[in-house]
Amino acid sequence: MSYKVTLIPGDGIGPEVTDAALICIDALGVAIDWEKKDAGECALNKYGQLLPEDTLASIERNKVALKGPITTPVGKGFRSVNVAIRQHFDLYVCLRPVKSLQNPQALHKDVDIIIMRENTEDLYAGVEFAAQSKEAAEVIKTINSQSDRKVRPDSAISIKPISAFGSRRIAEFALNYAVKHKRKKVTCVHKANIMKYTDGLFLDTFYEVAEKFKGKLDYNDVIVDNLSMQLVRVPKNFDILVLPNLYGDIMSDLGAGLIGGLGLAAGANIGEKIAVFEPTHGSAPKYTGKNKVNPMATILSAALMLDYLGETKKAEILTRAVSDVVGEGKDVTYDLKPHRDDPTAVGTKETALAVAHRIKELL
Ligand code: NAD
Repeated sequence: MSYKVTLIPGDGIGPEVTDAALICIDALGVAIDWEKKDAGECALNKYGQLLPEDTLASIERNKVALKGPITTPVGKGFRSVNVAIRQHFDLYVCLRPVKSLQNPQALHKDVDIIIMRENTEDLYAGVEFAAQSKEAAEVIKTINSQSDRKVRPDSAISIKPISAFGSRRIAEFALNYAVKHKRKKVTCVHKANIMKYTDGLFLDTFYEVAEKFKGKLDYNDVIVDNLSMQLVRVPKNFDILVLPNLYGDIMSDLGAGLIGGLGLAAGANIGEKIAVFEPTHGSAPKYTGKNKVNPMATILSAALMLDYLGETKKAEILTRAVSDVVGEGKDVTYDLKPHRDDPTAVGTKETALAVAHRIKELL
């Protein structure tokens, strides 16, 4: 069976790391008919638009996309093309695995966590008012008339919307995913002791949904500051974490730090019918075209994509091949060597070829 998938190489190091993922998918023998589309700086130069309609239409049609990172030009158009894609398709789950993968450089060797971050609400909803603006003055006036707590008149304001709808669907996704993938425990992360209404709603909704999973799974909750400390000390105590947007973003990077850095941090943005797979890292412009950066995060994102497409066995082989190459520590990029200037570090393409070679041995 052949799949049709939108490929957005992106800009900066994007084309190099997505090419690396394609080398590995070819080696697996999964037939994918790629529809290559532009977004970001390259699209701006060609079409005068950062996110062309044609690119959105391709994702809409194919329902699945593999995407490289995209630079967010300062002061032009959207806040971020990446955020615009997530919002356009209502990709409400940001799924990020945090797995040690035999990496000798990892701070912890026994981490196997999946972060499920709500991707549409919270302080990242983009409802913000600049200090001294007419809008901020109106909002401050309303707040000061409704609340005992007074907001200073020279404040900038960011709104933190958390809905029952948004909380329910991320909780349902996380719990169903846990059952399907035979995981043991789902932990809801929050700060409901202080943010009683917003995080309180997120937490209460989680338990409401989790009740229906009684007997199938363990579930509990943890306050986000406590989680930060525990993750650094004993990450093996956690399995699946479900978090509101802001905490999810921060904990994802903390997780990447536990397993050896951004070069290994894969990601997926998933909605009801559409999913976009991309590494957690950005376009690292200073490394553009240097065949230097680590492609593993994008290769692992491709593994998540194969799992989503139902190619579970191939996804497992790909993840295993990455883990073996990382574990061996020979054909890896500078960031996975004991010292960043290690002369034995190989390039982006050579890393992909090493993974492809290992795939052939495993098949
Ligand atoms: P970045 O992730 O691009 O790079 C920060 C540093 O991390 C790099 O200088 C490099 O040292 C390291 N790094 C990143 N990826 C690596 C890899 N694959 N292998 C080895 N080392 C790697 O973050 P930034 O510099 O803050 O952002 C650059 C641009 O990327 C910005 O325009 C930002 O908006 C954008 N961005 C895009 C996405 C996305 O497309 N989803 C995500 C984050 C940032």
